[in-house]
Amino acid sequence: MREPAWPDAVRHRNHTFFPSGRFATRSKGSMEDTQSQRSEPGFRINDPHISERAQRFPESVIREMTRIAAAHGAVNLSQGYPDFDPPRELVEAAKLALENGYNQYSTTWGAPELRHAIARKAKTFNGIDADPEANLVVTCGSTEAMMAAMLSLVNPGDEVVVFEPFYENYGPDAAMSGATPRYVRMEWPGWSIDEETLKAAFTPKTKAVIVNTPNNPTGKVFSSDELRLIADLCSDHDVVAVTDEIYEHIVYDGARHVSLAAVGDMAGRTITISGLSKTYSATGWRVGWAIAPKTLADAMRRIHDFLTVGAPHPLQIAAAVALEFPETYYANLARTYRAKRDRFVKGLRSVGFECGDPRGAYYVMADFSRFPFEDDWAFAMYLVERLGVATVPGSSFYGRPEDGARYVRFMFSKKDETLEEALRRLEPLRELQ
Ligand code: GLN
Repeated sequence: MREPAWPDAVRHRNHTFFPSGRFATRSKGSMEDTQSQRSEPGFRINDPHISERAQRFPESVIREMTRIAAAHGAVNLSQGYPDFDPPRELVEAAKLALENGYNQYSTTWGAPELRHAIARKAKTFNGIDADPEANLVVTCGSTEAMMAAMLSLVNPGDEVVVFEPFYENYGPDAAMSGATPRYVRMEWPGWSIDEETLKAAFTPKTKAVIVNTPNNPTGKVFSSDELRLIADLCSDHDVVAVTDEIYEHIVYDGARHVSLAAVGDMAGRTITISGLSKTYSATGWRVGWAIAPKTLADAMRRIHDFLTVGAPHPLQIAAAVALEFPETYYANLARTYRAKRDRFVKGLRSVGFECGDPRGAYYVMADFSRFPFEDDWAFAMYLVERLGVATVPGSSFYGRPEDGARYVRFMFSKKDETLEEALRRLEPLRELQ
């Protein structure tokens, strides 16, 4: 088997971020850069005015791959967003809001219409009791909610338990808040968790645990038993759980989304984060929220207020309409994504990838070991430059890059024809095995 030639740009990304403050350099950096453990020559900005905080992480690989995709005219299966529109009713509701006086700031922690709608939905769908006046913070996407949660909870030196592979943002969230991540591996291929490893990750320094279910990038949906174990550990160690439930309505094969806040008495120590982006295909609207016990919500409201003042008011008003959609909307959403998953994952396997069936969310981690490439960056750059398909290199989801070096992440929140085109472009891989 011949190793395919690939351009120099394969070396494009020669560094990988370790949220714990360590970095791997897969190419030589200059000596003077090595004195700081928290910096890495590949992404350190050469300007003494820059704070150490800003030097601690590179730009997002996920967002970077989207730009590289555009530069190469590639089918973009990297960053997770749909290439189809939100529901018509949602767009119409936004137009109405724009025309009806919702063009100034909302209450900083969210328009009352939306907070009430979130509380109603949290009660019926998630089994969480939330007082719209006390427990809700509306944010600029769940991204801001997660950052506000971390900044509200963590003092420098505190530890945060993170399941690995993890959504890339949690690294910079930890770095900016000063947290040290303690990784608990979800093991390929079923993304199972070892109970003893999880128990051992909780120490006297643990302040929080981040639980992302349904999970990005693995598609794992945490079971009730796993959530009960996490709940017990949180209660034993007086730890707060921060859950990222942005894919809560995208589950397959009878998997059921369970909110950790609804397990036992976890409502008293859980920040539940979700938002509009994935459930209503409106990632650009930047409307997210957190449900938290009053004291934590109070802290998050402060952070949020001084970071962004508020999420876009007219879009919050429209979001309140979406949250009243009937049950059939969510059933259709899950069914539509299941059909995409079935066809796409089957297609990936047929050209030579190894992957399980994600049980939720719209990503699949694919093992490309059958193809002769040095690592995930080499392979991802080959895919985007030569075959015209953009993915996310697996190393960006791991604390140690080598642990993710045989995977790339595909996302399938795209029109059927887009996914078909991507699979067509991947056909030449058959010849490389
Ligand atoms: N969650 C999406 C992903 O993993 C992207 C989110 C974002 O870019 N803010 O691709």
